[in-house]
Amino acid sequence: MIVDHQGRRFRNLRISLTAACNYACTYCVPDGKRLVAAQDELPAEAMVRGVAYLIEAAGIERLRITGGEPLVSPKLEHFLRETSQLGLQDISLTTNGQLLSRKLPLLLECGLKRINVSLDTLDPDDFKRIARGGDLPTVLQGLEEARAAGLKIKVNMVPLRGQNHEQVLPMLDYCLERGFELRFIELMRMGHLAREGASFQQQFYGMPDLLAAIAERYEFAQAPAPLDATALRYEIPGHGFFGVIANESVPFCRTCSRLRLSSTGWLHGCLSSSNRHYVGDLLDKPRHQALPALQRLLVRALADKQDIAFAGGVTVMKIIGG
Ligand code: SAM
Repeated sequence: MIVDHQGRRFRNLRISLTAACNYACTYCVPDGKRLVAAQDELPAEAMVRGVAYLIEAAGIERLRITGGEPLVSPKLEHFLRETSQLGLQDISLTTNGQLLSRKLPLLLECGLKRINVSLDTLDPDDFKRIARGGDLPTVLQGLEEARAAGLKIKVNMVPLRGQNHEQVLPMLDYCLERGFELRFIELMRMGHLAREGASFQQQFYGMPDLLAAIAERYEFAQAPAPLDATALRYEIPGHGFFGVIANESVPFCRTCSRLRLSSTGWLHGCLSSSNRHYVGDLLDKPRHQALPALQRLLVRALADKQDIAFAGGVTVMKIIGG
């Protein structure tokens, strides 16, 4: 097992199935371009081998399928069917929900038990302004169907000052009423936001403000969470739970166990590092050749992790796999 000086190791793999996305969220991509042509992306078979090899080489236990938007990818079906046979403890998927109704039968058939749906607002105009794509009622319909089908659902919201921060309570009410766990993700200095400090500062709405807004309506207390969890979890007695992923306010680098594989075959050990390690060629090799080479790259990827706090990263989230 590859372990670093802080005792960290990779347990959680996030795969960006494709960098293409049917949204162009203002905080994720700078230019409003959607569905970028998927150039040089690995075929589904190679990505499945990537997961299998990383289970062996790094001790990966849990997989999250992300992107880009995984539900737009033609690779999804093969990838899901095959990775569900690999004996992982958990497989989950992060989606913007736009195609959720359509893909729900496939997700259920492949045995998926839980999903995260990104939704920043319940206001249709703000939705269009932030996502620069998609349609709010379609997402809400997908969420209702996924709930009726018994999927466990977390909703991801990035609160942005002056844009959707007044939606914190309406979003929380909406989620609590439906048994969804809302995850507030503090805005991260990724991609263009890493270069545009003023824009980041202007939009950033941190955990202290967030908790103060929630406290106006609800009493809550911190709930237990696994040691390497990225979210601080809170219980609102009698109502449910919510979480905060507080990259800035309460950094969690010291316990980070995440590894990312991009759709073009690059391993990223840390969102905050511009280092990346190409493994696309290794995934075509037989196991006995691939594993030793992969292990050498994993040592380097683990060394890319920040010691204490997230410092921002120039890679666009949808490429690295948010
Ligand atoms: N398309 C899928 C979706 O929308 O959930 C998966 C990919 S998306 C990049 C994954 C998550 O990253 C979303 O919840 C999104 O809100 C979040 N995200 C993207 N850029 C971010 C940033 N700069 N700061 C915080 N979260 C970000």
